[in-house]
Amino acid sequence: MSGPVVLVTQYGAEEIAIEPAQVLRYLGMGGRQPDQQTSRMIEDCIGEFQKAAAYKVCWLTAEITVQQDGVDFGVFYAPGQSIVRSLKDCRRAIVFAATTGLQAEQQMKRQWVVSKAKAVVLDAVGTAAAEALCDRFCSDRQAELVEQRLRPRFSPGYGDLPLQLQKELLNCLDSHRKIGLFLSEGLLMTPQKSVSAIMGIGGQGCDALRHDCQNCEKRDCLFRL
Ligand code: SF4
Repeated sequence: MSGPVVLVTQYGAEEIAIEPAQVLRYLGMGGRQPDQQTSRMIEDCIGEFQKAAAYKVCWLTAEITVQQDGVDFGVFYAPGQSIVRSLKDCRRAIVFAATTGLQAEQQMKRQWVVSKAKAVVLDAVGTAAAEALCDRFCSDRQAELVEQRLRPRFSPGYGDLPLQLQKELLNCLDSHRKIGLFLSEGLLMTPQKSVSAIMGIGGQGCDALRHDCQNCEKRDCLFRL
């Protein structure tokens, strides 16, 4: 029996907007006004990162069964109450893995030898880029849905969803072959600036563009993670 088809979506750097405000947030300076030197370094690092980045996402849409203690995706079983809550009333879900590419990773690593300050900024740029890639991917998938909404993206390691599930998730997506993304023995993704996640498709869902509950003002949202 064949499983769901894995698709690959690629984006050019011009399609992924890395916002300086998000980089500042990952630098732990969110809400503060950066000095001129920091602003310039952020802009430079965004430019350098974009030249090296290769944005790719592999993904599938699975028919799911939400059970009492977990969710059956057919291709794997996700245990825990957090995922049960997140996917309540959903019959389908998107499973995806997204990466900013190996070249951007190598560029970051080389920078550690040259300038640690710049390497720290590049690292934050990489995190912002991976999130921006997910945001773009999610809004593209949302645009294809008729009368249905995506739930916020939910990654292994959130709530009580085991981090180990990343292994099955990336395996079923064949992420190594499809987009060059693999998992180390210690469950670290390479390239590091990558994300793996699940998003339910339901009658109700996330209404925010960014799907980022920690920075969302909708305090009474039913789907807040
Ligand atoms: S709290 Fe905001 S980001 Fe989170 S699910 Fe609700 S609308 Fe989406």
